[in-house]
Amino acid sequence: MTHAPHADRPDDVLAALSSSPTGLTGAEAQERLARHGPNRLPQAVRRSPLRRFLAQFNNILIHVLIGSAAVTAALGHAVDSAVILAVVLGNAVIGFLQEGKAEQAMAAIRNLLAPRAAVLRDGMRQTVASETLVPGDVVLLEAGDKVPADLRLLWASRLQVEEALLTGESVPVEKAVDPVAADVPLGDRSCMAYSGTMVTQGTAGGVVVATGRQTEIGHISRMLSSVETLTTPLVVQMDRFARWLTAFILTVAALILVFGALVLAYPFTDLFMAVVGLSVAAIPEGLPAVLTITLAVGVKAMARRNAIVRRLPAIETIGAVSVICTDKTGTLTRNEMMVASVAVGRDVFSLGGDGYAPSGPLHLGDREADARDHRLLLDLAEVAALCNDAAIRSRSGAWHVEGDPMEGALLAFAGKIGLAPEAGQAGWQRMQVIPFDARHRYMATLDLAPAGDAVLHLKGAPEAVLALCEVERRADGTRQPTDTAYWQQVAHLFAGRGERVLALAARSGTVQAAAGRGTCAERFEGPDLLQGLELIGLVGLIDPPRPEAVAAVAECRAAGISVKMITGDHAVTAAAIGRQVGLAHPDRVLTGADLDRMSEPEIRAAVLETDVFARTSPAHKLQLVKALQAHGLTVAMTGDGVNDAPALKRADAGIAMGQKGSEATREAAQLVLADDNFASIVAAVREGRTVHDNIRKVIAWTLPTSTGQALTIVAALLAGLTLPVTPVQVLWVNLITAVTLGLALAFEPSEPRTMMRPPRPRSEPIITPRLIWHIVLVGSLMLAGVSWMFTQALARGYPVELARTLAVNTLVAMEVFHLFNVRKLHGTSLTWTAIRGTRVIWLTIGLITAAQAALTYLPPLQQVFGTAAVPLADGLQVVGLGVALFVVVEVEKQIRFRLHHLWAGRSQSRRLRAISARRGP
Ligand code: ADP
Ligand code: MG
Repeated sequence: MTHAPHADRPDDVLAALSSSPTGLTGAEAQERLARHGPNRLPQAVRRSPLRRFLAQFNNILIHVLIGSAAVTAALGHAVDSAVILAVVLGNAVIGFLQEGKAEQAMAAIRNLLAPRAAVLRDGMRQTVASETLVPGDVVLLEAGDKVPADLRLLWASRLQVEEALLTGESVPVEKAVDPVAADVPLGDRSCMAYSGTMVTQGTAGGVVVATGRQTEIGHISRMLSSVETLTTPLVVQMDRFARWLTAFILTVAALILVFGALVLAYPFTDLFMAVVGLSVAAIPEGLPAVLTITLAVGVKAMARRNAIVRRLPAIETIGAVSVICTDKTGTLTRNEMMVASVAVGRDVFSLGGDGYAPSGPLHLGDREADARDHRLLLDLAEVAALCNDAAIRSRSGAWHVEGDPMEGALLAFAGKIGLAPEAGQAGWQRMQVIPFDARHRYMATLDLAPAGDAVLHLKGAPEAVLALCEVERRADGTRQPTDTAYWQQVAHLFAGRGERVLALAARSGTVQAAAGRGTCAERFEGPDLLQGLELIGLVGLIDPPRPEAVAAVAECRAAGISVKMITGDHAVTAAAIGRQVGLAHPDRVLTGADLDRMSEPEIRAAVLETDVFARTSPAHKLQLVKALQAHGLTVAMTGDGVNDAPALKRADAGIAMGQKGSEATREAAQLVLADDNFASIVAAVREGRTVHDNIRKVIAWTLPTSTGQALTIVAALLAGLTLPVTPVQVLWVNLITAVTLGLALAFEPSEPRTMMRPPRPRSEPIITPRLIWHIVLVGSLMLAGVSWMFTQALARGYPVELARTLAVNTLVAMEVFHLFNVRKLHGTSLTWTAIRGTRVIWLTIGLITAAQAALTYLPPLQQVFGTAAVPLADGLQVVGLGVALFVVVEVEKQIRFRLHHLWAGRSQSRRLRAISARRGP
């Protein structure tokens, strides 16, 4: 190309790229892809495996361990030092492997979100992966799209693009087709749309002039996507706690050291080794790795349920959600539309047929009708086919939509009337378009008829269209003043059946034919152009609710989550669908106009009891999120349009649609639904609750058991007794249990009543008084069990080696049985399913048992760790002590549940009384 594309006329740019306004052929595109390579920016470099491995050691807990190993080695205790290093290494290896898996899972998920682009290929609109774009491709843009490559615009209506990424300017700039001077800066090249910028308004088409690294953004930036670290507020909170705990443990250890040396006059080396043993035992070094793994397991589980986590904190917030605000179309309904009712003149027809196939019977009353006898039906079909950006296509017998399903349904309708979808458009040339916008709720096109007249076609929400139409067309060919009351009645009739209602209008012959596409923008913008339109009729489209959504709404109600439907549709349609999916109060509807009239406190008062919001615009979504949050609720909000982004960002969990949603909302969201399905939100809530439970389980297992391990040494030291467990033995226990048993909890499935509980409060801290009590209880029980076993063995005249072996095994047995207590945080662990456990649980228990058997019976290990073979009867006693711990903790849990229920019941009735008192009689 001789010029820069922004200085050339569109035709010259197309010629230079050997392309045309209808794009490339599929074959040509493929060939160019091989030549130019994929349209992809260089990826952020992933950390090398070595760096990732070394990062595992970058943790205060691990530093303390390494320090102890060094000192232990210096004191000549090679075995202890080796065991500590084995703990460190084992921990690092598991962390490394699991984190690698987690990163792979995140990368796979990112691929699921790979951007797509609408292009013209083989003369047809198609959706392709943005990576496959090549220079010469003609790309179609609409509001909410991210520009997929550098484009020279060929036509544009009301196009505005936000280019902050390139220019730093966050105010959207207007775009047009006219060339600009060759030397203007990037920000002033108004006929270009650059890769990575965001379309905020309007529609356009442009030819690709550069892809991948050749784009402007490719020049600027080597590294755009950054690697996200696996962390959430809860994990950060836990990390901070772990650091605090380490400091605490080290202080206690130092105090014991001083006390033991000065007051109890222990030999220093032995004392020091004991203190190292207890510190290593007490430090929950496995915790960070296990928490990361728990999160990764949750991310994968959600992806399996079609909920793709874009930002990790969403895993936590989605589980705490107390109200879900959802779109209607496509989320609660299938978004498989079909025109079922049509009103023209004073006749009301019903249509049959199947999916998007452009054929099906037409009835007037209960008699079959012929569309050729009703001239107005043809007029209606003409608007339906031309004021339309979709395409329908049959592939191996089944008809599919390319584009908006509602517009696909209108094309199918035109076909049923006898206007073959392509024939309806053949010979016509679109000159201008006002794209649909949720703020004005109509779409208009200006089309050049084959005969040379320009015709304006308009479709949209009945209120919006009726307001623009002074006259209506009648069956006898006359024009009469619009009978608004009649049409409202018809709209109400259709809407009452849950149909989405559209009004269609046209005006012909008033606009002079202008040459070519995009050349009469000024005239089209003119205020009087949309006046004097003639109403032709109404269509009613059915869009059945998704059966899974009905079940999911019921599940939400059981889980204490309220569901609010926020839609741009008509109030009556919305209420009908609300009833069908089982919302709590489908008949209390507030419209956008109602909200506009209400003050903020009034909205806040009404928002709890209203479940349907109709004829809303995106700005209302933001208002509703704020009103709900003012009640302290945790709000999930779905969105698909560009203008939904602020509401999604403000919501606690912003959820974007993967299929029909725009790139702009996806970027603002924390969670993306791969299938746009409401049921997937509820599945994500369940997984979110499960992840949160599992994090709590991991903590509720780890902290008490490491406390128990440390206490056995501390108590013996302070009492001046023989240690029931030697330092090197406690290090061994720590080595084999720290990562294995806790890790099993990361894979726990949801508890049965997960979705029968009310949502947890967001502010609930992770370290609660209840947890501290649990730590104290289990820690003391372990201490008691181990001490009893040890003293009782000595009393029976066992050598100290055997007594210690029994003590060590008791310690491990109690940790294993405690796992079963913790598996059910919210229910009893005394059921068969609870005891049966999972494969992961039994695998880890198998491993631990084998390790303990080796420690007890293998001569080399007996030598190193000072253990002795245990007789069978004593072994049974060890298991018995494990069972005893399980039973005591379980009974304590059940008593606590009963008390809690009593207390909660009383406080709830108090709260209810307070509410009714406030409302008055
Ligand atoms: P929803 O909440 O169901 O997604 P929308 O905001 O998409 O609602 O649509 C609101 C109303 O705008 C619809 O009821 C319909 O009357 C009208 N409408 C929707 N899409 C189009 C379109 N492409 N062209 C014209 N009118 C439309
Ligand atoms: Mg919509």
